[in-house]
Amino acid sequence: MTPDGHGTPLHCGRCGAELRPGRGEWYVVEIRTVVEPGPPVFTEEDLAGGTEAAISELLGRLRGMTEAQLRSQVYTRKLHTLCAGCHARWTADPFSAD
Ligand SMILES: [Zn+2]
Repeated sequence: MTPDGHGTPLHCGRCGAELRPGRGEWYVVEIRTVVEPGPPVFTEEDLAGGTEAAISELLGRLRGMTEAQLRSQVYTRKLHTLCAGCHARWTADPFSAD
């Protein structure tokens, strides 16, 4: 059985078990991350060389980044598939290293 119809079976993102569709035996986990909502805070040290220097340094750092890199610093969305056992373990302790 190939859930995507293209011959690629789905697997659990943690244990690698093959996931069969239509049986309610696995889960899709959506993880979204959003950067803290608020304006950047500049310290005295940041502004030691003057506001223009701080802005110039910030622009310099941004200049070498692609649009996708910049976007991923603000917002990311990832989908993962988990078998029932891994889903239960992940739900109980999402930050476990296991
Ligand atoms: Zn699993």
